[in-house]
Amino acid sequence: MNFSLEGRTYVVMGVANKRSIAWGIARSLHEAGARLIFTVASERFEKSVRDLAETLEGGEESLVYECDVTNDEAIIQTFENIQKDVGVIHGLAHCIAFANRDELKDEFLNTSRDGFLTAHNISSYSLTAVARAAQPLMTDGGSILTLTYLGGEQVVKNYNVMGVAKASLDASMKYLANDLGKRNIRVNAISAGPIRTLSAKGVGDFNQILSVIEERAPLRRAVTQEEVGDTAYYLMSDLSRGVTGEIIHVDSGFNIVSY
Ligand code: NAD
Repeated sequence: MNFSLEGRTYVVMGVANKRSIAWGIARSLHEAGARLIFTVASERFEKSVRDLAETLEGGEESLVYECDVTNDEAIIQTFENIQKDVGVIHGLAHCIAFANRDELKDEFLNTSRDGFLTAHNISSYSLTAVARAAQPLMTDGGSILTLTYLGGEQVVKNYNVMGVAKASLDASMKYLANDLGKRNIRVNAISAGPIRTLSAKGVGDFNQILSVIEERAPLRRAVTQEEVGDTAYYLMSDLSRGVTGEIIHVDSGFNIVSY
């Protein structure tokens, strides 16, 4: 069986800086021989992503596109540009989420309508919009993955509206897996354990969440971007060719513990 991703092209959405989980995914895919294309939320992130891409061998040639996922036109245009520039893609990593900081503390009960819609728009609906725009480029079939969190399955303190958005993302992933399976496109999610990133900083008491993992997770430690990246490699490769509609927990086993 061929484990290499050589000759394949993957779109990685959501690198903000070197701590981003998307960057861990990019490095694993690159190591496996993949050609990478990046999309960023705005011009603000473009230089840092170009600088990061240049640290990869041959990465100076990586294409970087601006794509704000709240804008349908921007999504369509981005994938049209990718099609023009590279033709076929073999997969896509959706590593995007956002909620207003104010919503990620105290009670979920106080979630505002705007805060609810923003979190769902960026963190959940975007997967569907992006999958729709990407699938015409996936003529050889392929793999789409998104990043989710335990807070979509269980109540996690302070995760609040983001947890509800992750539940919606998880369900969207399954519906998309069903729609796209007939085109040989698989859709899965990785449920990552807590990792210190720009987005994670917005969640109240994040340090406490991490220390609970270190104390109670079966592996007694937090996971790394690299570990999530290697599971992404599995999901992008033929090793996972029979897997779709699945949530794979990369969380030191924390999701199995109930004490
Ligand atoms: P991050 O801040 O590095 O990445 C979030 C990305 O979302 C950023 O690149 C940001 O620019 C992008 N984004 C936000 N709004 C956008 C928009 N309108 N258009 C396009 N892009 C937009 O943080 P991260 O922790 O690497 O987050 C990546 C994913 O991993 C998210 O879905 C997050 O919920 C998920 N996740 C994170 C953790 C964790 O503990 N860090 C755990 C489980 C799941």
